Amino acid sequence: AAKRDGRGCARVFSQPMQLLIEQRENLRRKLRGALANGELFLEYQPLVQPTVGVVGFEALLRWRHPELGLIPPGIFIPIAETDGLMDEIGAWVLRRGCEQARAWPPTFSLAVNVSSAQFLSGGITDTIAHALDASELHPDRLEVEITESVLLEKTVDNLDTLNTLNVLGIRISLDDFGKSYSSLSYLKNFPFDTMKIDQYFISDIRSNVKSQIIVRSVLDLAHGLGMTVTAEGVEMPGQAEWLADAGCDRLQGYYLGRPMPADATLEFIRRTAGRSVADWPETMP
Ligand code: C2E
Ligand code: MG
Ligand code: MG
Ligand code: MG
Repeated sequence: AAKRDGRGCARVFSQPMQLLIEQRENLRRKLRGALANGELFLEYQPLVQPTVGVVGFEALLRWRHPELGLIPPGIFIPIAETDGLMDEIGAWVLRRGCEQARAWPPTFSLAVNVSSAQFLSGGITDTIAHALDASELHPDRLEVEITESVLLEKTVDNLDTLNTLNVLGIRISLDDFGKSYSSLSYLKNFPFDTMKIDQYFISDIRSNVKSQIIVRSVLDLAHGLGMTVTAEGVEMPGQAEWLADAGCDRLQGYYLGRPMPADATLEFIRRTAGRSVADWPETMP
């Protein structure tokens, strides 16, 4: 039912908007059964130390619905968060990730993304402790990735939580650094071990002098604070080379390896063994 008055622009947007809302409702309903129906799974993307090779993987959540196909995490994770499903899904990610990481060499680390909803609900330290217990994965092999959205609320509680994880030997990474507000006060107040520089600064690192200056400064800042740095979104050999020369500790991106199913990780480790990023094999399909 289109409006006829001066609010004509509402009419232009009403149909696609309605579609989006219906789609969202539809996804919301289907997502409730996704975990129980075995539609969720994890892929693993390699984390590469320039002179060493693969040193770990980041677990990335996937949802394949039998009719809708693959739904991107950028779409369904926000729905899971607002629907109160992220606690349960997040706990599953931690359990499954720790379990699957057991197959890797004992020096390899597992990075898991933890959302603000999981943090705010308060049970995150127990959830992590249970996942480590059940899998018998050593705590120092686990890295928890959080974005600054986690730190915006309940700052004192969050500091407590991060300190508890820190004491357990779990490492904490600040994901997507530079993407939004990236307040430096977070770096002063929270015990991060690693900073992940957002791909926004990496994509043009070969040609944009400003990106170069910013990334060099961030490397300096992080190293000065005793943190390591991971560059996200490394897609080309030239970017990997520039970042390795600049002293970046770890690289992640399609050039080093796309997210892959769990059962492909061991073959990937074998294939890249003994390689530095300077002679990286072509990315597997
Ligand atoms: P993120 O944690 O920053 O993960 C990196 C994202 O960049 C992944 O997208 C990855 O596939 C993509 N990526 C990796 N290398 C490249 C590259 O070279 N070029 C480009 N263009 N992209 C690259 P993905 O898998 O779609 O995940 C998107 C976001 O969803 C993640 O961003 C993370 O914030 C969230 N997410 C994924 N899995 C989980 C999870 O288990 N729990 C929570 N809370 N969030 C998750
Ligand atoms: Mg991440
Ligand atoms: Mg990121
Ligand atoms: Mg992200």
